[in-house]
Amino acid sequence: MRIDVDRDRCCGAGMCVLEAPAVFDQDEEDGLVVVLLAEPPSALHDVVREAAKHCPSGAVKFVE
Ligand code: SF4
Repeated sequence: MRIDVDRDRCCGAGMCVLEAPAVFDQDEEDGLVVVLLAEPPSALHDVVREAAKHCPSGAVKFVE
């Protein structure tokens, strides 16, 4: 899995961080998403899928 986020779409809602804090964080300056693990291990794939599903702006994408 490889994660690709669109920071232009991110509205800083933080849902991805709540779902997968090991994979996503928010920039301290602008609150926008920061990817900590662009290629997360398989144990984290389900939470990444949940994060993508719950992102209100559709900013979290990934390829399997
Ligand atoms: S859930 Fe979506 S909009 Fe919210 S911080 Fe994460 S990427 Fe940005």
